[in-house]
Amino acid sequence: GRKFFVGGNWKCNGTTEEVNKIVSTLNAGEVPSPDVVEVVVSPPFLFLPLVKTSLRPEFQVAAQNCWVKKGGAFTGEVSAEMLVNLSIPWVIIGHSERRLILMESNEFVADKVAYALSQGLKVIACIGETLEQREAGSTVAVVAEQTKAIAAKISDWTNVVLAYEPVWAIGTGKVATPAQAQEVHFELRKWLQANVSPEVAESTRIIYGGSVTAANCKELAAQPDVDGFLVGGASLKPEFIDIIKSAE
Ligand code: 13P
Repeated sequence: GRKFFVGGNWKCNGTTEEVNKIVSTLNAGEVPSPDVVEVVVSPPFLFLPLVKTSLRPEFQVAAQNCWVKKGGAFTGEVSAEMLVNLSIPWVIIGHSERRLILMESNEFVADKVAYALSQGLKVIACIGETLEQREAGSTVAVVAEQTKAIAAKISDWTNVVLAYEPVWAIGTGKVATPAQAQEVHFELRKWLQANVSPEVAESTRIIYGGSVTAANCKELAAQPDVDGFLVGGASLKPEFIDIIKSAE
């Protein structure tokens, strides 16, 4: 079976004081064993060392981005090599905020995924359609295209978690219904089966992100193809513990 995965994407939020507070809350929370759920929190780069050293050891950390290739003369960027050097095991790549605001293309995202994996990082690769694309009926085509760009550049999916995050659900309070999430996750798994392999389709975690809360996570988690969550706003609050508990 696929181990349930709960990621907390803190985005561009937090002061040292706030980070310490969130970490204390997470450290005190009663959660299912790491055999049942994999928990990964993703603070901004500057707080990664602090969070990594103060967080309970069964919770892991992720960067929210990294440079597309080997580091060097790329002012303002952080390389995959640096993350590896600091023992940061995970990186989120292709979040819609980066795709849409920072104009990261499918191609660029796929290159980042491939490079990060080649350096030994584990990757949370994000995909998802805009409201306009959903209303045009192209949801499945859009997420298949995003996945295809990645699949063209990697061969080993062991260290990849695919995060389906419909853009219209992110930070809006408009969560996808369990049926809407299940439909897309099912289509993605079918796509992997046909275009990568049945083994990869069976073993790859496909997690949902977009307005996940303690109140809506149980129903979503009950869907057969929903293998966990990538949580934004609620990952900064004590209710993140309740979302982790939806693994059981
Ligand atoms: P919200 O949970 O705040 O909607 O954000 C989801 C997200 O973008 C996680 O990466």
